[in-house]
Amino acid sequence: MCKWGANVEMHISQSFIMRIKEFGESDLLVTFFTSDKGRLKGVAKGARRSKKRFANCLDLFCLTNLEYGLQKRGDLYFLNSCKLIHGFPGLRSDFSSLSLASYMIELTEILFPQNVVDTNMFELLQKSFTALDRGTRNDVLRIVFEAKAMSLGGYGINLEKCCKCGRPYAGTGRAVFMRNRGAIACLNCEKETSGCPGMAPDAIKGLRSMQTMPGDHVEKMSLTEENIREIRPVLKLHTEYRLGKRLKSAKYLDI
Ligand SMILES: [Zn+2]
Repeated sequence: MCKWGANVEMHISQSFIMRIKEFGESDLLVTFFTSDKGRLKGVAKGARRSKKRFANCLDLFCLTNLEYGLQKRGDLYFLNSCKLIHGFPGLRSDFSSLSLASYMIELTEILFPQNVVDTNMFELLQKSFTALDRGTRNDVLRIVFEAKAMSLGGYGINLEKCCKCGRPYAGTGRAVFMRNRGAIACLNCEKETSGCPGMAPDAIKGLRSMQTMPGDHVEKMSLTEENIREIRPVLKLHTEYRLGKRLKSAKYLDI
């Protein structure tokens, strides 16, 4: 029986632990991203005193089976217990993987407000953390994650036609990215500058497949060094412009 009442209906979700804060004398306030109910917040009563119900799993980035009461008190759920599915130890092994994981969590939080369910986003996080854990290149993972997450959040870049003259993009020739339009423009309409970075046809093709691929293709994307060099500034401009800010965790990224 929990302190919030004997008749609280319990529910178990696969969840990523997104944030943890000390709460009161012995509790923890936990933000978690579930596969079936989106991002939620709950209190783990007594979690700082007794580690038994939450052994080794209330840690940032852990994937867990989290049991929580469906009855909310205000905005908060009651967390009853937690079982670790994956702790992604490799992700914690160096500062740059850890920073990238924080960035992925922050981007997810911004794109998916509380209670917004997206199983594709959950899968993208899971595959990206698995790839980080295995030591996949961080610079590649960052752009693949950004492109797909932005697209799932409703901010995909329009790569189908020139946003100025409307000419469909035929897949040949360079194009430039226009951040205020979230789209590409042809070289007849715009010049390449640092504010309007250009991309070669295969970089545009790569970006398109990142936006449309299933989340489990994270590790299957093949990009050349040149593709990475061209796509990176496009996604940086795009995320900052669409979200209206630079993410806090972005300043720790060295890629
Ligand atoms: Zn044009």
